Amino acid sequence: MSDSGKVFLVGAGPGDLDLVTVKAMKLVSSCEVVVYDNLVNPRLLEKVSGDCERIDVGKQPGRHTMPQEEICKLLVDKAQEGKRVLRLKGGDPFVFGRCAEEMTVLDEAEVPYEIVPGVTAALACAAYAGIPLTHRDFGSSIAFLTGHEDLEKESLRVDFAKFAAAGGTLCVYMGMGKIREIVDKLLDGGLSEDRPAAVVSHGTLSAQRKVLTTLGSLVDEIEKAGLVAPAVIFVGNAVGLAQQQDWFSDRPLFGRRIVVTRAREQAGKLKGMLEKAGAEVLELPLIEVKPACEKEVVAEVLSCIASYEWVLFTSANGVREFFNLFFRAFSDIRSFGPMRIACVGAATAKEVEKFNLEVDLVPEDSTAEHLAKALVDTDSLDSANVLVVTGNRNREVLVKLLEEIGRAIVDVMPLYETDYADVEKAPALDSYRNHGADAIVFTSSSTADSFAEQEDVLTLVEGALKPIHCSIGPVTSESLKENGLSVDIEASKSSLEAVVETLVKNLGPSKA
Ligand code: SAH
Repeated sequence: MSDSGKVFLVGAGPGDLDLVTVKAMKLVSSCEVVVYDNLVNPRLLEKVSGDCERIDVGKQPGRHTMPQEEICKLLVDKAQEGKRVLRLKGGDPFVFGRCAEEMTVLDEAEVPYEIVPGVTAALACAAYAGIPLTHRDFGSSIAFLTGHEDLEKESLRVDFAKFAAAGGTLCVYMGMGKIREIVDKLLDGGLSEDRPAAVVSHGTLSAQRKVLTTLGSLVDEIEKAGLVAPAVIFVGNAVGLAQQQDWFSDRPLFGRRIVVTRAREQAGKLKGMLEKAGAEVLELPLIEVKPACEKEVVAEVLSCIASYEWVLFTSANGVREFFNLFFRAFSDIRSFGPMRIACVGAATAKEVEKFNLEVDLVPEDSTAEHLAKALVDTDSLDSANVLVVTGNRNREVLVKLLEEIGRAIVDVMPLYETDYADVEKAPALDSYRNHGADAIVFTSSSTADSFAEQEDVLTLVEGALKPIHCSIGPVTSESLKENGLSVDIEASKSSLEAVVETLVKNLGPSKA
């Protein structure tokens, strides 16, 4: 049966994209309309297809949340237009998500729908902050309560005193605005001031913070730590088993803000590695990489591709673009020929290996000089036909060394262009200017040059954290210096792994 004209009421989980269910992820990439709230991680929305209509019904500065009746009507209308509509909510749709109202309206309108659960905030925050919710001796029930952050509403909806009397672990959603009142009600209900209590804000995200304390000190401790919504408040004896140290905040770069300056399409890997180490990553792409080739050069090179003795790739980008063009011209990999293949570094080699081709040479260090030197050392260059697949920058050194020292006959096939990207377009720019960062990573000379070029836009406000400059290797360091920028730390090897290692060494726990 076709899914046209159907609504999917889906939980997007608490924030961490790895906690989005496989089913939700499939729907995100296949829906035609997505209707979403504030608490949905914006990075999840990057995964919807380009032609999908996005409707933000959450609260934004200067604009109110779309009223619930309007949201319901919207879902019905879009489904009746024949669309696959994804209604995406933070956490689980049935936990304080107003899913029941939407379900009722869809039933009335006879619009078919499905419901997909999500990891709700209380369970996620507990797990990511190491707070047990039940224990054989200390807690045998859990209650999810709403403290309702809506300050216009006078009184609390939930009878907190009754829940206090029932014991067990209380998980209070939307309670930060009424925290003092909630604590008083619980004390009135008979809980003692030393009942363990905790708060986790921005759970599962790199901005996660927690407070472990007692009911009597809860309000003061929240204020002292500056915790703000969204947050879940936990009260109960099992909560007392939580430790200050927890697996999530013990990761080496937890609490550190790191700026990644690579082009958006290339930033993913480094970003993922840094986030795994616990860092909050700000993406300020300083360069952009665009496919760019001259048709005649491509045609000429491909027509005699099998005659090259060496083919050199200087970036993963180049590899992808090359094989893109290659398979447009040939249907069989055997047309590639019996040449040897060299790559500037491991990441580039990995891209080549995806085509089941073995890479014959990767230099110790990922620079053009090292690549040229390693090739010269093979004693196979004299009068050899060499093809260099590359971009528009930094290729002169490589070609010069191959021709002059190796006496090779070099053809260059430029396949992409690296340009400065307008950093003003980066959504993370305001956050960077206002709060600064612990480090900014330069992964190529062009990122250093572009930074210098746009330094006025990148000026921090007074009091913002001034980042140290981390360079991927000597060539990039040289460019930083030429631009009058400091090099505070340099990776021991020109690789992303070494960059992360250097950051951990310099910003890790012992340096806190
Ligand atoms: N349906 C959601 C809850 C929506 S109500 C769910 O199942 O999680 C909104 C409240 O959820 C917030 O006020 C806060 O109490 C909680 N919340 C949502 N995401 C959170 C997060 N990442 N960290 C802490 N609390 C969160």
